[in-house]
Amino acid sequence: MSDKPDDDAPEDDAEEQLGLECPKCGCCDFRAYYTRRQAKGIRRVKICRHCGRRITTTERIVG
Ligand SMILES: [Zn+2]
Repeated sequence: MSDKPDDDAPEDDAEEQLGLECPKCGCCDFRAYYTRRQAKGIRRVKICRHCGRRITTTERIVG
């Protein structure tokens, strides 16, 4: 397992607090993996910092 700190970009994840919880370890500390804008909304993939579990969320675009 690579546990090196590879956060080379400052993250700005304060915009989204949906109470997202890792189903595996229950922590709420994720880092953004990628974000893709789609017709239906914005798809985000996040990775749990704790266990590495990948979470996919979809946000609807409002307006
Ligand atoms: Zn986790």
